[in-house]
Amino acid sequence: MNIGLGQYGLFAVANATAHELTYEIPESLRPQMAAGVLCELPVQGRRAVGVFLSFCPKPEFNCRPVTALLPDCPSLKPRVLDLLQWLSHYYLAPLGRSIHLAAPGFVWNALAHAKRLKRQERVLAKQARAASVPKAQGALQAQPLKTLNAEQINVYEALRGVEPGHTALLQGVTGSGKTEVYLHLVRDALHAGGRALVLLPEIALTPQMCERFRVHFPEELAVLHSGLSNVEHEREWYRVARGEARVVLGVRSAVFAPMDELRLIVVDEEHEQSYKCDEFPCYHARDVAVKRAQLENARCVLGSATPSLESYLNSERGKYKKVLLRVKHSRQTNRVELFQYRPKIHSSGGLARGVVRSSQFSFQGHVMAPGVVELLRETQARGEQSMVILNRRGFAQFALCGDCGVALQCPHCSVSTTLHSRGSKELCHYCGFSRPILKHCPSCGSEKLVQMGLGTQNMEQEITERVPGVVVDRLDRDVLTSATRLSEIIKRFRTGETQCLVGTQMLSKGHDFPRVTLVVILNVEDGLFVPDFRASERTFQLLCQASGRTGRGELPGLIAVQSLGASHPVVSLALEGNIDRFLTDELKMRQLGWHPPVCRQVLVEMQHASEAHLMQLGSVLQRELTAAWTAQGLTPQNVRLTGPLPAVLSKLRGQYRVHLVIAAQREIHPSRLFPQELMFRKEFQHLLKVDVDPFSFL
Ligand code: ADP
Ligand code: ZN
Ligand code: ZN
Repeated sequence: MNIGLGQYGLFAVANATAHELTYEIPESLRPQMAAGVLCELPVQGRRAVGVFLSFCPKPEFNCRPVTALLPDCPSLKPRVLDLLQWLSHYYLAPLGRSIHLAAPGFVWNALAHAKRLKRQERVLAKQARAASVPKAQGALQAQPLKTLNAEQINVYEALRGVEPGHTALLQGVTGSGKTEVYLHLVRDALHAGGRALVLLPEIALTPQMCERFRVHFPEELAVLHSGLSNVEHEREWYRVARGEARVVLGVRSAVFAPMDELRLIVVDEEHEQSYKCDEFPCYHARDVAVKRAQLENARCVLGSATPSLESYLNSERGKYKKVLLRVKHSRQTNRVELFQYRPKIHSSGGLARGVVRSSQFSFQGHVMAPGVVELLRETQARGEQSMVILNRRGFAQFALCGDCGVALQCPHCSVSTTLHSRGSKELCHYCGFSRPILKHCPSCGSEKLVQMGLGTQNMEQEITERVPGVVVDRLDRDVLTSATRLSEIIKRFRTGETQCLVGTQMLSKGHDFPRVTLVVILNVEDGLFVPDFRASERTFQLLCQASGRTGRGELPGLIAVQSLGASHPVVSLALEGNIDRFLTDELKMRQLGWHPPVCRQVLVEMQHASEAHLMQLGSVLQRELTAAWTAQGLTPQNVRLTGPLPAVLSKLRGQYRVHLVIAAQREIHPSRLFPQELMFRKEFQHLLKVDVDPFSFL
């Protein structure tokens, strides 16, 4: 019997819901077919781009032929395909829903290929002309690496000793030279004829990091992040795919960079939450990196001053090799001062019930303690720089009824609106709804609407008023939307044109400004009282990272922490720099609460316009899950279910939201906890999102 091998093939098509699709392969195309080759395929009447996975026997049904190969488009790397197969299985996503991760958006657009091809040819022709000219000014001369100090050498040797395919956790205080060590490891990978991938949480915030890599690897470096234009992204991606760029520096999605010969993967600031993708499939780039290293036989280094509990537990259990850098290269130590200060608080009737976060008060008069202001003045007088970090989640200004205490809310989402345009406009940050601010409280009709919240704008103003001569700049979410504004602010601070930078948590991340000698953290307890088991971990990381922002140059640093009340153990441990104690204590708490990393969690989110229908579907799913577990012999000893319950954001863009949280023993694979066929059930389709190892529970 002729089973027709070679005549038919399995393809993954981006944004198709199915796992794999079968197509006939015309005879003329057969010789070129290999895993990863991109083809044009007919899918439901449109021209789609698909990836060839493997040949398969003649199917039972009639199938259509492949239209064409995509000329000159580099194939996807077979190892990246393997990685995505793994990802699909682990994060419970059909391959059709995850294959798009293997290449940027333009690769999946069948219609754009011809246009792109022309553009590419022009670029190649230009490159060829440039190459025929003898090296111009030698502008791309690589700078030699710095000589490592004794402690760094030990760490470097230890990391070189990591078996290929394995992972190490490099725990090193900020400023200890982790980046210098990465640079040496990258150089080694290149010398050995291999390639290196370095992941960063956020490139826009750390332009210095790119520079540090560029000076050492000027020709080999490609940078991949979301701030690039389509054309820039395309150029960088092709340089990597063609093997011209052998070092890739990128954010989360760069973990799928089209590289082979991979020798080294570095995940810097591995604890950062931005590695976790919040769209389906909700992958965590650090965990994908560890898997990729395993598949490619590369070494993986996870670096952080404050490791995540996940990586800490893995190193304790011997899964990752643990390596420590204890001393700052500059040998500067930071001093910490704690200021307990309760500013005069505006409280209105509604605030009397329950516990209220400090950001929900509005402050009358000054926010900063006199002692903190004094420090800012002294720093200014010495000609040094300061940073003021406002620890707050959520957004700046909102309006609260002074009579009944109800906040103005978005009519489509269950969240308060944010005030903009000096309080004249309400805006919903979830759905974009906006309107002129209401004149009356929608619940009691009172006209006494009080503007609440403490924003970075207010702080900017207070510092300007209270610290003579200081020039203040602000770095917050609003600024982040514009790459030029951001780099101007950073440049002004770097050159000393501004002396004080005010911002949110993001200020604590990664910047390297040698003249910063004072870091002020306001509202330190604000992040602790949120309904999330990672609240302590995040606050601890914020404090440690923030203190890493000072004492980086020749000058010693001071961290001033202003808190509203009694000190919290997490705050004290962070200020002592007692990371090990924090990690061991926190791990015990996680154990008690059946929380990650001790346990595994899967968050199931359901959305629907009708609340009643949603709750009913939630109960159906609850029964289905319980039945599936029983059938597999799982018991309440190893798996638990919470919900269905309304989510914290119980309504979003007019859709109601319900959560079910599965907690189970770590050893149980996600596919056993949430059988994939449930996702394809008619009644659940399109309203389910499954998040394995979730980070956000809103
Ligand atoms: P980390 O990545 O751990 O925060 P960095 O690599 O950024 O640390 O090092 C902090 C500062 O010290 C940087 O300015 C870096 O250039 C400098 N530095 C670190 N190690 C050395 C070294 N061996 N020689 C010279 N300068 C060093
Ligand atoms: Zn009211
Ligand atoms: Zn809204």
